Amino acid sequence: RNESYLVGLVGDGITESLTPPMHEREADHHGLRYLYRPVDLAVIGRPGEDVGQLLSAGRDLGFNAFNITHPCKQLVLEHLDEIDPQAEAIQAVNTVLLQDGRFIGHNTDCSGFTRGFEKGLDGVAPGRVVQFGSGGAGSAVAEALLGLGAVQLSLVDMDVARAAERAAELAARYPQATVESVTAAQAPGQIAAADGVVNATPMGMHHHPGAPFDLDLLRPTHWVADVVYLPMDTPLVRAARALGCAVLDGGHMAVGQAVDAFALITGTTPDSARMRAHFLQL
Ligand code: NAD
Repeated sequence: RNESYLVGLVGDGITESLTPPMHEREADHHGLRYLYRPVDLAVIGRPGEDVGQLLSAGRDLGFNAFNITHPCKQLVLEHLDEIDPQAEAIQAVNTVLLQDGRFIGHNTDCSGFTRGFEKGLDGVAPGRVVQFGSGGAGSAVAEALLGLGAVQLSLVDMDVARAAERAAELAARYPQATVESVTAAQAPGQIAAADGVVNATPMGMHHHPGAPFDLDLLRPTHWVADVVYLPMDTPLVRAARALGCAVLDGGHMAVGQAVDAFALITGTTPDSARMRAHFLQL
């Protein structure tokens, strides 16, 4: 185990991210010396394509690990020496460990969503799912849902080609499930027949108000998950709670990815309930 930890978050506009304080506070509880600094591309005026140079600089300056976020989760792939099989499957990395000068990529968005689902939707079987959004977060969530045993996954994205490509790739790796892309026009019929509905688009964020579908389509029998956590009570989450649906807010994934990244970086198992409680105070 290390004497101390120096960790960075590389991404665009991430100066206010809640991930650094989550890690630092948890490290304090374990008596670890742990500094977690945002490396905000917007602040330092660098493009996402510079992620490889930033990682090399971090290695030279003694960093132990990086979290990687938008727009670098795919751009970072070519700079890795090793990649965890699940991250390889998703083709996205959000955690890079530096070990003996080598860069090792992981994806804790996927494991973090799974962790959040098991905690926040305890006892819920995913069943038939309609998921809006198949970008960075959506790819990790789709992988997680199939890993959790979803029997049918219908992907809806404004970028129809993206949803189709993602669905084909997942269908090939999860032959026991039905994975398909559906159009926005087909979505209402799919929702009516679904067990669960997921938002993995930016809709519901402060600067993307609204929801990706007509919320009148929700039924009390649906389980509902959102990845948006700023704010956590998105219109989708509020409508689902009002109906009495089982609901997973975006905070669960945000905490779950941090819990798993902390464990990878330190080799110490964090207290996930404590991390969520702290997150809710931030
Ligand atoms: P992205 O740009 O990679 O993907 C978003 C996708 O949603 C795009 O493919 C876009 O075409 C699609 N989309 C947008 N509006 C749509 C609509 N109305 N209907 C259908 N599809 C639509 O972005 P991302 O990195 O996946 O981030 C998406 C959201 O997830 C953001 O709000 C981000 O903050 C959140 N996020 C949360 C966590 C977490 O830990 N909770 C982690 C990562 C991202």
